[in-house]
Amino acid sequence: MRQFVVLGGGYGGVTVVNHLFKGRIPNDVTVTLIDRMPFQSMKTEYYALAAGTASDYELRVPFPTHSGLQIKYGEVTGVDLENRQVIFAAEDPIPYDQLVIALGCTDRFHGIPGAQEFSSTLQSFAATRATYLQLNNAKPYANINIVGGGLSGVEVAAELRESRPDLNITILDRGSRVLSAFPERMSKYVTEWFHEHGVNTRSHIGITSLERGVIYNGSEEISSDVTVWTAGIQPVELVQKLNVPKDASGRVLLNEYHQIPEHPEVFVCGDCASLPFAPSGQAAEGQGEQIAHVALALWRGETPKLHPIKLRGTLGSLGKKAGFGLMGKRAVTGRVPRLLKSGVLWKSKHHLG
Ligand SMILES: Cc1cc2nc3c(=O)[nH]c(=O)nc-3n(C[C@H](O)[C@H](O)[C@H](O)COP(=O)(O)OP(=O)(O)OC[C@H]3O[C@@H](n4cnc5c(N)ncnc54)[C@H](O)[C@@H]3O)c2cc1C
Repeated sequence: MRQFVVLGGGYGGVTVVNHLFKGRIPNDVTVTLIDRMPFQSMKTEYYALAAGTASDYELRVPFPTHSGLQIKYGEVTGVDLENRQVIFAAEDPIPYDQLVIALGCTDRFHGIPGAQEFSSTLQSFAATRATYLQLNNAKPYANINIVGGGLSGVEVAAELRESRPDLNITILDRGSRVLSAFPERMSKYVTEWFHEHGVNTRSHIGITSLERGVIYNGSEEISSDVTVWTAGIQPVELVQKLNVPKDASGRVLLNEYHQIPEHPEVFVCGDCASLPFAPSGQAAEGQGEQIAHVALALWRGETPKLHPIKLRGTLGSLGKKAGFGLMGKRAVTGRVPRLLKSGVLWKSKHHLG
């Protein structure tokens, strides 16, 4: 049997699997999905788990159950590209004929001393559970600093405000405004929401180091009972260690079919892949669909035909009642984008995206 192995059952990996099973998989091909967890987790909602407004259970989605799909649980530690093997932490390696690497991303600490040791993060389910404990065990009126005013930082700050009205919450951003990748009108709306809801925003912060309870902004000491790091991402360590060409963000450079050019038997999907837009669940799903299309076409002996991946826009939440979003070039704010975001989540949970 030929082995088609998908590493990572997140937005990208699950989409690859679901779309493969919509087509005709040759009889001599076995598809195996591998993840460390026994369910998919809705990473786009981790901010709510961290803040304590959504339970762990609510963020879990069962893996697909196609007849013929094998699911294996384990901690993947490496990929041996030369010998075509997946390496595990505590089990024997398994061989593959074709592979999809869809393991997502981890935090980037920019070499700042103490950042990794003294901050809580949101990039894995386990890390987010730990952040939930830190934030929800924080004493009344504790100082919570959220480093990074991008989408994740903004969402966690707003959700935490709803969950814990007592806390002193501050977003520390190195730029001149929160959501610097979005239009200024949207940053203004979000900043006003924060001011109305008692969340502080500080710009032009150049963090030089962290210690227990303190963030250093040059010579300024910022007292911090809990620091949440949302100031950068990079592909998971396994991909960092892969000896293949990558872009400036460490994402793997791919050919037109999402394959590693020197290893066309290996596809890379989602946050690990170098795509012409910022990493997102949507991009991972769009790419996952195309990878399945390519694999099915190649099995039929046909040339795959791909169109550019179309993204629907970005939606962010400010607690449960307000939101913001970019639909094409249009910035939308208020209740409508929040409702749309809930709808997108519902569809994603039911694999209707
Ligand atoms: C707080 C927050 C809010 C976000 N909001 C949005 C949003 O509104 N819209 C949007 O489009 N995107 C959003 N994103 C980004 C989005 O979540 C990611 O871009 C998306 O999850 C990437 O999909 P992926 O398939 O590449 O990886 P993931 O969905 O992260 O899946 C990776 C999978 O690999 C598994 N895995 C990882 N390492 C190993 C290992 N060593 N061994 C075994 N299994 C492993 C994990 O358990 C996981 O199931 C948000 C992210 C965060 C953190």
